[in-house]
Amino acid sequence: MSTDPNCIFCKIVAGQIPAKKAYEDDDLIAFHDIHPWAPVHLLLVPKRHIASMESVTEQDGALMGKLMVLAPRLMAEAGVTGGFRQVINTGRDGGQEVHHLHMHVIGGPRPWAKG
Ligand code: 5GP
Ligand code: ZN
Repeated sequence: MSTDPNCIFCKIVAGQIPAKKAYEDDDLIAFHDIHPWAPVHLLLVPKRHIASMESVTEQDGALMGKLMVLAPRLMAEAGVTGGFRQVINTGRDGGQEVHHLHMHVIGGPRPWAKG
């Protein structure tokens, strides 16, 4: 599996940096954002180091589908019943700060700090 030793999310995947995990399997990990915008703010992350959506290929279709399908399940498990938002930031103009592909899944009663 490809990893980047300088990548903070690769370090979380490897257990080198702690995170509050909500889900894990062979391909994906989900954990709570360290600076949540809302009552529930998860990051859904492929374990393989993919820098951004710009690096995704057709071969990643199943993985990206898994990521998408996991979101409603984890929101339901977190008790979110009023809807949620899924956001992927890509590259400089997309406002991406961590260059390991991740999907924000944000929910819970408003007001939210952001989003
Ligand atoms: P981006 O702007 O790249 O889409 O979002 C990166 C997100 O990662 C931010 O919301 C930020 O709070 C979160 N984040 C950055 N470093 C860490 C960390 O070490 N642990 C956790 N749990 N979240 C982080
Ligand atoms: Zn990484």
